[in-house]
Amino acid sequence: MDGIGGGTRLAGVVGWPVSHSRSPALHNRWLRRYGVDGAYVPLPVAPGRLETALRGLQAAGFAGVNVTLPHKEEAYRLSDVASPAAHRCRAVNTLVFDADGRLHGDNTDGQGFVDSLRAAGVDPAAGPALVLGAGGAARAVAAALQDLGAAVRIANRDATRAERLAASLNETARPGAPPIRVTDWETRADLPGRPALLVNATAIGMAGSPGTPCDVEHAPHGLVVCDIVYTPRRTRLLAEAEMRGLRTVEGIGMLLHQARIGHAAWFGVLPAIDPDLADAVAGEA
Ligand code: NDP
Repeated sequence: MDGIGGGTRLAGVVGWPVSHSRSPALHNRWLRRYGVDGAYVPLPVAPGRLETALRGLQAAGFAGVNVTLPHKEEAYRLSDVASPAAHRCRAVNTLVFDADGRLHGDNTDGQGFVDSLRAAGVDPAAGPALVLGAGGAARAVAAALQDLGAAVRIANRDATRAERLAASLNETARPGAPPIRVTDWETRADLPGRPALLVNATAIGMAGSPGTPCDVEHAPHGLVVCDIVYTPRRTRLLAEAEMRGLRTVEGIGMLLHQARIGHAAWFGVLPAIDPDLADAVAGEA
């Protein structure tokens, strides 16, 4: 499209800070690729200003926004209609504004995680899962796996936080879903419950938080190792798993897959994930 005009559909990402977000590059790339008259912008919104900002964006004709730190829980509280995934996560990362002035909140992280595994040829519900972490991302991942009927264990450095997360997800699980169990952080490398899938949903391995969240030296060959950290794309955990011949899934796929859902709602096109998209968005092409 040639620039922004009166008919341009608008969306963006609300966060504080937001300058590091990969979402504008991703969505604008899709808009160009599909020839959509749309634009997606970073929207720095300070803590305490979310409601004012959302009402203003809605009044100004935005189709909706992504929500990132530190606003995800507040966005859930402000949603007039929340999706089942948003209720499970008690957090919203995608808002759609409707014509009646209502905010529709969704949390697409869990679906993005599941879709990224499937795109990599991995069945997320094929066996038990061990999820490392008990923050917002771990909640989305564990909820999505439990919803698919997988047996999930959580290990977190702060065990009380893990217990709280498991209790909260078990309370809202559908009838018949296997309850999430908590396992000891110190013995995670023993892979309790013989998982088919190991997911790092801690911040360990991110740029600035070096190291590995789990030793996989003695992991059985069938284990699939997924790291949702995506900066860097190839974390130490993934590198060590690959050295052992284990199958691995990068976190960038979750980021790309979760973004498709909002893009379709705002711009009317469900975009494809090209082989070169991950490189372009991660800035590592
Ligand atoms: P939170 O701050 O909510 O949670 C952080 C988690 O990491 C907690 O479980 C925390 O444990 C653990 N942790 C941090 N440092 C350490 C450490 N040194 N040793 C042990 N545990 C540690 O963050 P999020 O859940 O929002 O994000 C977690 C990661 O997931 C980030 O790297 C983020 O970039 C990534 N992410 C990726 C997405 C994707 O699309 N691929 C989407 C969302 C997030 P404790 O409770 O003990 O402090």
